[in-house]
Formats: sequence, structure tokens, C-alpha cells
Amino acid sequence: MINQDAYRLGSQKSGIRELFEFGNKRAAEVGRENVYDFSIGNPSEPAPKEVNEAIIDIISNIDSVKVHGYTSAQGNASTRKAIADDMNDRFDAGLTEDNFYMTCGAAASLTSVLRALTIDANTEFVTVAPFFPEYSVFATIGGGKLKVVEPDIPDFQILFNKLEDAITKNTQAIIINSPNNPSGVIYSEETLVKLAELLRNKSTEIGHTIYLIADEPYRELVYDGAVVPYVPAIYNNTIICYSYSKSLSLPGERIGYVLVPNCVDDWKRVYDAVAGAARNMGYVCAPALTQLVIERCTKCRPNLEAYAKNRKLLMDGLAEAGYTVADPAGAFYLFVKAPNGDSAAFSEIGKKHDVLLVPGGSFGCPEYFRLCYCVPEDMIKRSIPIFKAMIDECK
Ligand code: PLP
Repeated sequence: MINQDAYRLGSQKSGIRELFEFGNKRAAEVGRENVYDFSIGNPSEPAPKEVNEAIIDIISNIDSVKVHGYTSAQGNASTRKAIADDMNDRFDAGLTEDNFYMTCGAAASLTSVLRALTIDANTEFVTVAPFFPEYSVFATIGGGKLKVVEPDIPDFQILFNKLEDAITKNTQAIIINSPNNPSGVIYSEETLVKLAELLRNKSTEIGHTIYLIADEPYRELVYDGAVVPYVPAIYNNTIICYSYSKSLSLPGERIGYVLVPNCVDDWKRVYDAVAGAARNMGYVCAPALTQLVIERCTKCRPNLEAYAKNRKLLMDGLAEAGYTVADPAGAFYLFVKAPNGDSAAFSEIGKKHDVLLVPGGSFGCPEYFRLCYCVPEDMIKRSIPIFKAMIDECK
């Protein structure tokens, strides 16, 4: 006998993984350069040079037993302090190392927080489309449910009346992701103030705190001077899930954190519940070497120039080819309206041309498809005539 939920999860590949494998198969047949893979958000920029320098220095000069040993479950105090100091410099946040719990990336951060907040099988988490499809996995594996609220299309902002209707006495938290994967939208301070007001009113009405989970792996990936507000300053019951996967191009190193600031009601109990949930996941501690690297690299920022260039190239090329393209303020994705109104069918047209794009159904917006522009610039240039041929096929 095996666990049926685990079997279902393991045997059904995500649409993105299937595309990835289709791309590998086609690359073997026609050559990697002839496959236009816009499917996976793997940063195309190398990690900042300080990261590699830190790795070399640490493995050369620090006792190897310390470098590769277990750390405390919540992570090295010195690493957490360095992160707190950086956040205080940037947001005047009043944080200490005690507010941070180091994790194996945003996926682990979210899973721990969702588990920590799951009371029983009735527990509900609410998110706004378009949303990162793994939220459904993270919420349900902990025993709760995920409800998805449709967005205000084409701006992908929050439809507050729909969000309000989705909140019930079982609602434990709202999950937001800004800058957003896949739309690139950043929620403004004004939007967050409105959200905070709704959550305060609803918390009073239902008689318990509704937490706000801010999933922020793209916090530093912003363009044209866009600002990502520090959410706990707007809504006190905010828990931040962060990752260095995108900002420092370290997705395979599995490093991030949960931040439970002191302004969260009963923050220490919430922090301890996150610690317990993380313990229950069995990864013991975040990678020790990478924690030491992060400690030295908290001031490093992504190379936005390359992404900004790709973003413009792809946006302009698609617009010229006749696509309706919004201008994303952050992250490294374009969320584009399928010219035939059906992104799953349009993705199949793409596959015929060896162009891999992710249909928006799993993000909660089936009329849109996602393109990752963290890809080689040359590939974008060569893909534009093909995108033109694909739109022509829909006429
Ligand atoms: N949240 C969002 C919105 C993401 O896009 C991703 C990864 O693409 C994650 C969480 C998970 O990130 P990590 O690689 O740090 O686990």
C-alpha cells in the first residue's frame, strides 16, 4: 500500500515539467539552438561574482567541519543577523535574527508557513490569480484547502469584492505574490493599504486573525524604478516567505527564509509553529555552506540590465507581431493573451514550431500564456518571426 495523495502528486507531472521534457527530446532531435524554451524560470544571469568568491574563500579558509556540519534548525544566528541588518537598512524594519527562520527556498518557506497555520481539514487559504500553481500542493499537503479568486483582467489587480466573498470563518491566510509570477504585477502601497483594511475588518468579523503571507522571491527584480513596499509596515499580521533562487540566481542551492516580524500578533508562537512545521518536513537545516555565503552577500543585487533588455526586446517584438502584451513591473515573465483565446491550444501550436510557452490554466488564467524572458537574448531575437507565424496560424 502507498499513500494515494503522494502517488497522485508524484505520478502526475506538472505542465511545466512536461514541456521541459518535450524540449529536451526536441533538442536531441533538432539541436538545442532550434528549441525556443520560454518555459522555466531558471535565472539566465550567473550568480553575482561575490557568491563564487565567498564559496572559494569559505571552503579555503574556514574549518571544513564547521562549513559542512549541521547548523541550528533555524539557521546560523550570524546569517540571520546579517539578513536582519540588511532589511533594517532598506526598510527601517526593526528586525533581529530571532525573526528569521532559514529554509530550503521559498517552496519550503511557504510549505512550513501553510502547515503552521493549518488548524484542521476545514482550513482555507485564499490567493488571487494568476498564482504560482504549487500553492495548491503546498496548501493541501499540509491538510488545508486553497481557494483562488479571479483577478481584474487585464491589469491583474485584486478584485476586492471577490476576495471579500471568498473569506469565510475558516480562512487562515491570504497568499499574495508581488512581484508576481506570471503577470509581473507589483501591488502598490495603495492596494496593500486597501487589502490591510479588508483583512482587519474581516479578522474582527470572524473573530480570529487572518494572516497575510507575502511570497517575495522576486522582490529585487523590478524595472523602471518600481517599488515593492515592505508589507508588514502596512499590515502587521504579515509573514514573508523569501528565497535567493531568483535574486541571487541560486535556485539549485535551495536557500531562503521565513520572516515573522514582532508586529505579528503573538509572533513568537507563530514563529515556533513555523519551526515545528519545518522540523516536520525533515530537511533538518538549510544548507550550511550556502548560509555562510548568504551571510556575506546580503548586499548583492541581481543584474537587472540583462533582464530589462530581454524584457523590452520580447515585449516590442511580440507587440509588433500583433500580440497584446502588458508591461510587467517586476519578475522575469510576460503574461500574454493567447491570440485564439485558448492558451492550451496555443501552446500546442507553439510546440509544432519548437516554441515552449506555458498555458495559463494552471495559473488560474486560461486565456493567457507565460513566457520566461530569463533566456539568451539571441534566442528572443530569433523567436520573433516564429511568434509572428504562430499568430498568423490563428487567423
Ligand atoms: N513562489 C513563486 C511565486 C515562484 O515563482 C517560485 C519559483 O519559481 C517559488 C515560490 C519557489 O521558489 P524556490 O525555488 O525558492 O523554492
